[in-house]
Amino acid sequence: MQEFDLLIVGGGSGTQVGSLAADRDMSVAVVEPGPLGGACITRGCVPSKALIHRADVIREAQRADRLGLDIEISEPDLGATTEEVRNTVYEKAENQAAGLRESDDHTLYDGKARFVDDRTVEIEGVDERVRGERVVIAVGTSPTVPPIEGLDEVEFLTSEDALYLDETPEKLAIIGGGYIAAELGHFYATIGTEVTIIQRDGFLVPREDSDVRAAVTAAFEDRENCTLHLGSEASEVENRGEQVALSTAGDSEVEIEADELLVAAGRAPNTDELGVEETGIVLDDTGYIEVDDGLETSAEGVWALGDVIGAPLFKHAADHEARTVAANAVAERGETIDYTGMAHAIFTEPKVASCGKTEDELEEAGQEYERARFEYDSAPMGTVAKETGFVKVLASEGTVLGCHIVGPEATTLIHEVSVAGRVGEGTVEEIAEAIHVHPALNEVVLGAFDELADPLLSTAPDWSDVSME
Ligand SMILES: Cc1cc2nc3c(=O)[nH]c(=O)nc-3n(C[C@H](O)[C@H](O)[C@H](O)COP(=O)(O)OP(=O)(O)OC[C@H]3O[C@@H](n4cnc5c(N)ncnc54)[C@H](O)[C@@H]3O)c2cc1C
Repeated sequence: MQEFDLLIVGGGSGTQVGSLAADRDMSVAVVEPGPLGGACITRGCVPSKALIHRADVIREAQRADRLGLDIEISEPDLGATTEEVRNTVYEKAENQAAGLRESDDHTLYDGKARFVDDRTVEIEGVDERVRGERVVIAVGTSPTVPPIEGLDEVEFLTSEDALYLDETPEKLAIIGGGYIAAELGHFYATIGTEVTIIQRDGFLVPREDSDVRAAVTAAFEDRENCTLHLGSEASEVENRGEQVALSTAGDSEVEIEADELLVAAGRAPNTDELGVEETGIVLDDTGYIEVDDGLETSAEGVWALGDVIGAPLFKHAADHEARTVAANAVAERGETIDYTGMAHAIFTEPKVASCGKTEDELEEAGQEYERARFEYDSAPMGTVAKETGFVKVLASEGTVLGCHIVGPEATTLIHEVSVAGRVGEGTVEEIAEAIHVHPALNEVVLGAFDELADPLLSTAPDWSDVSME
C-alpha cells in the first residue's frame, strides 16, 4: 500500500487543494484517468468559450449593418478552429500534468479510482492500493443520456464531441435547452448550421429569472438558422441513411432529420462507479455527495468539492470550494463555505449573467421585494451602439437580493454586483454611489441600481428619450 498525507480523487478543481498541501510539504497523490484540469480545460468552459468567442466576432460583423457598416466574412473553417483550440487546451492540460510529475511532493496516478474504504482506493492499472491520511473527492459529473427509444442505436454527440467537430454540420438537432444547449446552439447557428432545439420546458435556460429566460428564448426564436420546439420531448430516434431522424411529442409533434444529434439533457455525478458503498460517504437521492458546511463528507477526514457535491455546477464555484477545502483539510481552519456574491454566466446570444435570487425564488419564499429594470438603450453607450438588453435588480430595504443582466458584456458587468455582495454590505446604495466610467456600458448597471437608490441628486444618465432608429 502506498500512503500519502493527502489523496485527491479527480484531477480537476481538487488539484488546487494539493497545491497548498505541497506548499506545506505534505505528500500528495492525485488520481485522474483523463487529461489533467478536469472538464473545464479540455471538455467544458475554455474550449466552448474559444468557439463561442469566434461566433461572437462573426455575429458582431453580421450585426454591423445596424451601424451602417457592411462587413463581409468568409465561411469559417471549423476543422482548423477546433484543431487550434484542441492543441491549446491539451497543451495546458499536459503542462499541468508535467508540473505535478516534476513536483517532489506530488505523485500522479493515471487511472480511475474506486474506494475500498474511507481513505483507500484501488486504481485501474496500478498494482498497489493508495491511501490518504486525508482525502479530497472532486470527480465531477458526466452527461446524462435520457431514456429515448432508439437513442442507444444511433450515434450522437455529447457536449465534448460537439466542441471538436472537423466539419460544420448542415443540420444539428439538440435535445435539451439548458445553458450548454443554448451556448452550443448559438455557436453552430452562427457558423451556418441549421439548428433545431427540442426542449421539455416552455423556454430555454429554465433556471434563469423569468425575464431572462423569456429574453433568451425570444432571441433564439428570432434568429436565423434556429428552430425551437418548446414544451416538447424527443420520443424516438433512428438512423435514416447518413442522417438521424427524431420524433417529438408534446406541444410540437414533428419529425426532424439532422446530420448530427447533440444530447445536452443534463449531467449526473460520477459517483456510480466510485465504490462509495464501501465508505461512510453518504449520497443524496440523485447521487451527489452530501457534505457539511465545511465541505466534509459524512466520512471523517474525507472532503468533497466541485460538481460532485451538486449545484451550482460552475468552475468558479468549484474553485471557491477548493479554497474552503484547502482551509479545512490542509490548514485545519474550520471554515464554512460562503457563496455570497457568486454570479454565473451563460455565453450565448444574448449574453446572460446573474447573481442572487430570481423573482420566482423570492416569490416562492414569500419574500417581499422591489424591482427595477433598466434597458441598455436607456444608457448613452447602449443608445449609440444600438444595443438591446436589460439589467434587472431585485432588492429589499436597500439590500440587493438578485441582479440579472441580459445583453452585451453581461458576463463582465455582473462583477460589480458580485464585489458589492462579497466585500461590501451588498446594498443598492453601494453600487449606485460607485462612480461609473462614462459613457461605458456599465452605466446600464448604474441606471438600474440608481432607480432603487435614494441619492440626494441622481446623476445616472438616462437616454431613454432618444433613439438612433
Ligand atoms: C460544455 C461545457 C461548458 C461549460 N462551461 C462553463 C463555463 O463557461 N463556466 C463555468 O463556470 N463552468 C462551465 N462548465 C462547468 C465546469 O466545467 C464544471 O463546473 C467544472 O469543471 C467542475 O469542476 P470539478 O473539478 O468539480 O469537475 P471536473 O472538472 O469534471 O473534474 C473531475 C475530474 O475527475 C475525474 N474523475 C472522474 N471519475 C474519477 C474516478 N473514479 N477516479 C479518478 N478521477 C475521476 C474526471 O476525469 C475529471 O477530470 C461547463 C461544462 C461543460 C460540459
